[in-house]
Amino acid sequence: MEGGARPSSIVTEWGRIWERDKEKRNPLEVGPMPPEGVRLRAAEHRRRSLSHIVEYDVKLLSALAEIDAQHAERVRRDGCPECGGALDRADYPRKPRGELGEAAGDYERRCSFCCRVEGCRKRSTPASLRFLGRKVYFAVLVIVASVRARSMSRTGRGGPRRVDGVPERTVRRWLQWWQTVFALGSFWSEAKGFFAHPVDDGQLPASLLERFGSGPVALEKLLRFTAPITTTSVVTRIAMAG
Ligand SMILES: [Zn+2]
Repeated sequence: MEGGARPSSIVTEWGRIWERDKEKRNPLEVGPMPPEGVRLRAAEHRRRSLSHIVEYDVKLLSALAEIDAQHAERVRRDGCPECGGALDRADYPRKPRGELGEAAGDYERRCSFCCRVEGCRKRSTPASLRFLGRKVYFAVLVIVASVRARSMSRTGRGGPRRVDGVPERTVRRWLQWWQTVFALGSFWSEAKGFFAHPVDDGQLPASLLERFGSGPVALEKLLRFTAPITTTSVVTRIAMAG
């Protein structure tokens, strides 16, 4: 059985690339595993108020757009993952819901590419820290509202009609999504193994965010960590680390 018929897992592959490249890593690059995030131990983990944990500002929203743009440029330079052909821009227009303030202009397009080669034309959509899959709200808000909703249900102060401006039923759907699609998906099934102390699936994404600290920095780290789920191209996902 030569040649290893079994494809190596994305996370394993990432771990390898991460190890190899961490020395020369630009902190602005989309990296799969921020080392300070995955090595946290429970003993180092202080209790913080959730409102502190989920703070974010327009600066973060714009910074995420900049990170996305840099990563997209790398994907473009690498060429078509299928045939190596040149990639042309073929962005998706987006109109994310939620209050983006001055950063709104940075969220009007989801970068995507199309192979120029006739007969291939394969689409490559780089991973993103701004958009979480097909959700119509921007990614930061999906995380922030989900974390707040978890906190509210824990403290028994349930029943608000909106969480951070998002209708309650939408947030409830997100919580379902974290516990099913995300928690049972291939990314998390493997990535959770990187944490020395298990992350409580039932409290996602709050339980995961806590591991990255607090404030906008924690949000950015979490988004970098979960970025693989924002693209369906395995090759693109692996390329993100390089
Ligand atoms: Zn191609």
